[in-house]
Amino acid sequence: MQAFDQQAKAAEMKGRVGLRPFPYPFSAGLALSSDIDRCDPAAFIRIHQYLNCPRQGLGLAVSDSFFGVGRQYGHMAYYEDDGKTPAKEAELIRKALECGLIDTLHSWGAFDRSPPQADFLRNTAKRLTEDLTARGLNIKILSIHGAPINIHNLYARTEPNFCGDLPDSPFYTGDLVDCLGIKFYWASELLAWPLSIGSGFQGRILQLWRLVQNTVKNSVKRGLGKPAHIRRPHQILPLAYPLKLRDGRTLLGFSRFNAHPDGLWGLPTRHTLRYALSRSNLNRLIRQRGYLIVYTHFGMPADRQDPLFPDPDRQALENLAGHCRAGRIWVARTLDLLTYWLVFHHLEWTVKIEGDDLLIRIHSLADPTTGRRRPEEKELAGICFYTPRPRDTQLFLGDKPLTTTLFHPDETGRPSVGLALPENPDVSFLEKFNHF
Ligand SMILES: [Zn+2]
Repeated sequence: MQAFDQQAKAAEMKGRVGLRPFPYPFSAGLALSSDIDRCDPAAFIRIHQYLNCPRQGLGLAVSDSFFGVGRQYGHMAYYEDDGKTPAKEAELIRKALECGLIDTLHSWGAFDRSPPQADFLRNTAKRLTEDLTARGLNIKILSIHGAPINIHNLYARTEPNFCGDLPDSPFYTGDLVDCLGIKFYWASELLAWPLSIGSGFQGRILQLWRLVQNTVKNSVKRGLGKPAHIRRPHQILPLAYPLKLRDGRTLLGFSRFNAHPDGLWGLPTRHTLRYALSRSNLNRLIRQRGYLIVYTHFGMPADRQDPLFPDPDRQALENLAGHCRAGRIWVARTLDLLTYWLVFHHLEWTVKIEGDDLLIRIHSLADPTTGRRRPEEKELAGICFYTPRPRDTQLFLGDKPLTTTLFHPDETGRPSVGLALPENPDVSFLEKFNHF
């Protein structure tokens, strides 16, 4: 009888162990995701000194992007427009990649007036990949540079001309995307709402409502003869989804959020952050315990006036920083938010009771892009487990014990243990580039 009681107690304890949807103490997650269009190095430095620096600015973890080529249009790029001479900002880009301030490639190049030459594109992409990987740098996120003329982009639902992932196209670069380490891909999917994780009754009702709306919109699109514009449920509900490219590779596609007076496809800039980060949007995000990756272009408008952020946008950012300091919204680099999402949804672990100890063992990550594998320790940053016995809980990655912190009960009344948050990029190196 006693053995039976113990078994029942152990089973009950195991049932109370679970992953927390966000690192403690946060209730929601948000990343500012900026395409580097029209951003020159001087603006890049000032913007990130304000956003990231805890002494001179807001101390938020905000990452950015860069181009391979595209300087003739005023974009920050690694190479001059010959595709081989390092640009004057190449070292700045490398330093930003090293510390995590840049985590996204905004396509190999910007070809905004005429499409790229196939050989030029391939050679530039290859040179960039070889240069960065030889320095031990890889890039995990790729974001499309949108205009249809940029045919070298990978597959995008709304752009049938893009052919970067078609193996028999002269613009094929799928192999190089792989070498560079790309795992997450923004394929121009925009949404106008926070992405609820869909837990709880309210979350499920909200998701159901979105599905109904989407079905109606899809019928209209079919009626208008625009089948390519039809959106599947996985493109409107979760933050990310496995996206199989035409060369057989799978990336994790993700959706970004846009709130703009001109509608979903209005061009967001640092002067429209007031809409995306409105008080009501942030409150809705917290209420829904959702994820949000905000689509923006920090470098725009390019005619740099002072102040860099007009009052309404500055106030919106300060309000966001206040939510972060108060432990409500986790403001993270795009890569960290996507990685947390991936781990939360695909981590495989077991619980064992040994005497008074509760052992949580992480075995693997059922990663849709690579198949099942052992997660790297840094991918687990911020991961938090609810546990009924935090003091007696030990966390392992395979056989390796991990150092955890004990957390008080949160708004659900449950205590947890968790790993340290991902580190914010240290942007003090930007001072060395003040000559720009
Ligand atoms: Zn762009």
